Amino acid sequence: MAVTSEEMAKLDRAAEGMGIPRLLLMENAGAAVARRLVGRFGPCRVLVLAGTGNNGGDGMVAARHLRNLGCEVELVLVGDPSEIRTEEARTNWRIVSAMKGIGTVSYSALENLRERMGWADVVVDAMLGTGVKGELREPVLSIVRELNSSGKPVVAVDTPTGLDPSTGRICGEAVRASMTVTFHAAKSGFAGREEYTGQVWVEDIGIPRELEREVLGRPLGLPSGGPVLVSACLLGIKCRYDGSDSFSEKVVQSLAGAFFLPVCPEVLGGLSTPRSPNWLVGGAGEEVIDGKARVVNEEGREVTENFLRGAREVLELARRFKVGRAVLKSGSPSCGVGWVSGRERRVSGDGVTAALLRRHGIKVLSEEEI
Ligand code: SF4
Repeated sequence: MAVTSEEMAKLDRAAEGMGIPRLLLMENAGAAVARRLVGRFGPCRVLVLAGTGNNGGDGMVAARHLRNLGCEVELVLVGDPSEIRTEEARTNWRIVSAMKGIGTVSYSALENLRERMGWADVVVDAMLGTGVKGELREPVLSIVRELNSSGKPVVAVDTPTGLDPSTGRICGEAVRASMTVTFHAAKSGFAGREEYTGQVWVEDIGIPRELEREVLGRPLGLPSGGPVLVSACLLGIKCRYDGSDSFSEKVVQSLAGAFFLPVCPEVLGGLSTPRSPNWLVGGAGEEVIDGKARVVNEEGREVTENFLRGAREVLELARRFKVGRAVLKSGSPSCGVGWVSGRERRVSGDGVTAALLRRHGIKVLSEEEI
């Protein structure tokens, strides 16, 4: 679920109130940007455009981690060092300025910047973050225009400069990024703004999830820290027994920015689409795995082996992709979490796949729980 800038600021403050220093959140944010950038572009020449606020501080941290990950890095501070607005950004400016491996300069003229852009393989946009208000002013406006016409891939930090992350409004001009690495949760203004955000990655930076309900009155759903398994029918794939899907807008929104793997355990187990409805007999998924219960279809044909095979296939995929979480369809004899619909009544317990994943330490959530 997405948040506005104001909500994000409240979460930041609450985390600080718990004793989590902003410097630590900045460190996690910058490191996440560097990992994502190198994950997509490999070690390369990177120009970091850093503003004088905390977004710029994130960019400075990213510059340091990029250097450690094998990139050549230049950093341009868009402003004068005396204008750096936060203690955390000042700390990181001192660090990058002291590093021999990173070339740091203050912005002087567009011509100089053009030359540096020409050198870079990738540009990091860390000029303005989620606190953007009003229209872009110079020199940022000209830099954004230059960047957009450079043809260079851009990785935006938290939000592309000039895109209001709460409303999606373009503040006169906005960076058109190839990728946006945003923190803790997707931002509400990103919806429908893919031409500016590019691919969005939501990175966990260590703000405790438990603060969401307390501060915002609602949980925000899944972070996108790692791959997530999802029941394919929830994404609109027509793999249900009757050939339909169970598309869930809520699930799709919660997964925004996440790397997810759609799976249909029954199909992976060799059952066709469409097929007869199936029922658990003698227990739930746990008991089926232990050989104490069975699965039969409406005609009474035994399909236990298909269910077990499907569950094992899903587990294998989970291991291969190092999946830690799964979002599964409620009530299904294979995917159901906490309950499954039996022939005449609800059976309490997980479906076969949900039970096997849980047994192997994977966090299993129902579609209602995210
Ligand atoms: Fe959906 Fe799971 Fe049933 Fe496949 S087995 S149709 S993914 S609930």
